[in-house]
Amino acid sequence: MVPPARGTPAPAPRAGPRSRWRSLGNLWWAVRGRCPACGARGAFVGAFRLRERCAGCDVVFERDPGSWLGATVLAYAAAIVATAAVALSTVPGRGLYRGLEAVLALTAVTTVLLTYRPIKGAWLWLTWAAGWVHRDGEDPDADGPARA
Ligand SMILES: [Zn+2]
Repeated sequence: MVPPARGTPAPAPRAGPRSRWRSLGNLWWAVRGRCPACGARGAFVGAFRLRERCAGCDVVFERDPGSWLGATVLAYAAAIVATAAVALSTVPGRGLYRGLEAVLALTAVTTVLLTYRPIKGAWLWLTWAAGWVHRDGEDPDADGPARA
């Protein structure tokens, strides 16, 4: 799928609830900061904050407060894995060396800063695939346009 040009109204998303889970192209859009529903650029405003709605197709990105808790947990989990990898690759050879705490802390913070945005994008795709990201008044379980 080719994303629409910036500023061009996006067509209504056609992916039904079942096909959304197989839409890895839409996942790639979201990981890169685009809308998972239409591919419009600019899903994020700033480094980590998502817009309230997509500028292309008007879906609401965050339906409930706390929608991004899963993305936060995954980013912290990535930091734990990276920190453990650094510790396991340096401590056995060097012992508990001077500055180890700073290296591990820097690894953890850097990992969160580098992974949170793409993980949040992937989480946005996941919420879209689950049917939680849709336009106001739209039936998220329908395969076509909104029904009245
Ligand atoms: Zn969109």
